[in-house]
Amino acid sequence: MTGVRAVQVPVLAIDGPSGSGKGTVSTTVARKLGWHYLDSGAIYRVLAHLALTRNVGTDDVPGLVALTRQLDIDFTEDGVRLNGELVGDVIRTEEAGVRASHVSRIPEVRRSLLAWQRSRARPPGLVSDGRDMGSVVFPDAFCKIFLTASSEKSAERRYNQLREKGFDVNIAKLLREIAERDERDATRKVSPLKPAEDAVLIDTSDMDADEVVSRVMEEVKKRL
Ligand code: C5P
Repeated sequence: MTGVRAVQVPVLAIDGPSGSGKGTVSTTVARKLGWHYLDSGAIYRVLAHLALTRNVGTDDVPGLVALTRQLDIDFTEDGVRLNGELVGDVIRTEEAGVRASHVSRIPEVRRSLLAWQRSRARPPGLVSDGRDMGSVVFPDAFCKIFLTASSEKSAERRYNQLREKGFDVNIAKLLREIAERDERDATRKVSPLKPAEDAVLIDTSDMDADEVVSRVMEEVKKRL
């Protein structure tokens, strides 16, 4: 890992709460730059999913840490793979997001996943999205972006994403779950959801995905 960082692989860190548009923007920017992409939220989602299927509680610290050591995750064109198998949309429900936010609160779990996340910084570059990419995982990232959006806009985006995946969504329940998840992420003791000091803040409430991508590309080009 240190070897990889020693050669100064450029990392673009894109953080923000749920529904801020991180995923769409990060994948598009990664494609434009021809860089690797790390969806760090998917790691916590897969971990929580694995815990559920193995009957490991979301507060069973040793059990969860043991699972982090067995996580063989890969991000491929067709989606996230766990031990070579496509995980599918089961990790994309809001319930899976809520479970992810419970396991992600645990310092030992986060610590155990740190080296693996850093090892994804490979040439020619990495676009990473999450909550603590710029603040903790990649403090040396050459460009740090923190996206925000109004709660109405975030909920609308999440609603549309979930509907597109064919999930039944109750908007009132979704609003409540997103608000609770963001609150849990922002108030936890380790790696809380908050912008790194040197992050560029972009409010995406009134922007479409293309506009946000252009804005992020501007910041990238300024620094490359
Ligand atoms: O980004 P996504 O909604 O997939 O993340 C799911 C959950 O995983 C978040 O609500 C958060 O609790 C956790 N997470 C995190 N740190 C990250 C990325 C995600 O704690 N870097």
